[in-house]
Amino acid sequence: MAGRTTSPDRAEAEARAAGFTPKEPYPGRVLDLWLLVCSTEGCGEKHLFKLNRIRNGERCTHQKMLRARRAAERANRPKCGTCKTVLKDGACPACAEARQAAEEMRAAGFIPQTRYPGRFTASWPQKCAECGQIRRTTRKRVKDGNRCTHRVVAEPPMAPPWRTAAQLVPPRQGGHGPIIGRTQPAPPHHNAEETSRAKQDPR
Ligand SMILES: [Zn+2]
Ligand SMILES: [Zn+2]
Ligand SMILES: [Zn+2]
Repeated sequence: MAGRTTSPDRAEAEARAAGFTPKEPYPGRVLDLWLLVCSTEGCGEKHLFKLNRIRNGERCTHQKMLRARRAAERANRPKCGTCKTVLKDGACPACAEARQAAEEMRAAGFIPQTRYPGRFTASWPQKCAECGQIRRTTRKRVKDGNRCTHRVVAEPPMAPPWRTAAQLVPPRQGGHGPIIGRTQPAPPHHNAEETSRAKQDPR
């Protein structure tokens, strides 16, 4: 009897019985790493396995193959032409929900400005059908009874116009800029050519 050692033939037979094809000779000990390939069709995943683990019942889980198969199935399922959601019984559940949500908003006096964002609590721009103002609200708030108050929200006070003009117009541009708040009108601007022409032809 060989005692604790396992013959290469026997080790290989065990590996094959467990669904592996050895890619190198049995390294000699049950705790040595051994390069094996899964023999399941379509898998072929490489493993550094120990014979000990095979004896303990570990097998290839075909992770890569199953993942690829799931991805292929997902890719092949018919999708909605509008939102790419996978169809359910030939209909798009996401578009059905979006239609339902838009109906709720219209019933509450709003005109949705974009497609339903897909979440009950997501901000969704609406135009008030009565006052025409754009309001950001959520489907949940509308369901809870929130409506447009038709109150005009005051814009924050603007910066003085001359400051705005100075920010927009480079200071060297003289009379061209929209200078507002100046008491004296800016001198009329002439470049050298215009001035000489004016002297030659006073009319
Ligand atoms: Zn496998
Ligand atoms: Zn859809
Ligand atoms: Zn309103």
